[in-house]
Amino acid sequence: MEFVQTVLRPHIIQIENPIGNCYTLVLGREKALLFDTMAGLGDLKKYVEGLTSLPLTVLNSHGHFDHMGGSSSFDEVYMNRLDWPLLPRFEECLEVIGKNAGCNLSRTRGSYRKPFLPLEPGMTWELGGITARAVSLPGHTPGSMGLLLEEDKILLAGDALSPEMCLFFPESLPLRTYLHTLNQVEEMPIDWFIQGHYNRLFPKSLLKKLHDCALLPGQKKGYPYVNSLIPSLRGTMFILEFQNPDADGTICIITKEGYDVSA
Ligand SMILES: [Zn+2]
Repeated sequence: MEFVQTVLRPHIIQIENPIGNCYTLVLGREKALLFDTMAGLGDLKKYVEGLTSLPLTVLNSHGHFDHMGGSSSFDEVYMNRLDWPLLPRFEECLEVIGKNAGCNLSRTRGSYRKPFLPLEPGMTWELGGITARAVSLPGHTPGSMGLLLEEDKILLAGDALSPEMCLFFPESLPLRTYLHTLNQVEEMPIDWFIQGHYNRLFPKSLLKKLHDCALLPGQKKGYPYVNSLIPSLRGTMFILEFQNPDADGTICIITKEGYDVSA
């Protein structure tokens, strides 16, 4: 099992697994923080211990399998309690997901039985030269959380912000909630954000495009969408741009059937 690492800042490392999930390791002078545990492939704990011997805090951005699946390797993991109810449903899908992704997710199963610690907005970790503060970013899921790295002016956003924004899950909240989250992030003192499936920084200016894209549902006809890992998840894709240089790809939004697009 190969992990690939990209150094985004000397103390911020984005690490990717073979199925395109990323997690972020933040290294302070005294402590380290891991944001997301990915899908549970490979020995994540051993890999992180190879990168740092600092005391480690582990957070999951939200309750989807590809962000919390490696939790069972760690003693204590924080996750917003609003996403705890999602866990049994995803555990039921693990076999289908593993088959479609071409990987064995048996290790992931243990993460679903793990008791999590509640992650709440405003919780702050002082890592030594780096202040990391949890912020609420609802939309993708009810309990989606971000981590604001105050000195770096970087927001770790998980799946809560994305050039390819996914709101097709049964648990995704109405469009107005996502738009509110975008507005909240616009007010935050950041220059960049990091998404949970890309190994790069996105400029804050991309938020304007994400906002424009979020206005497409209800305004134009979209394309039918079927999720490749969980084919029972279907929706409608609305494309703003096929190739945006800041996004390094497509800017689109995917909503579920009958999605509430009222502003
Ligand atoms: Zn997700």
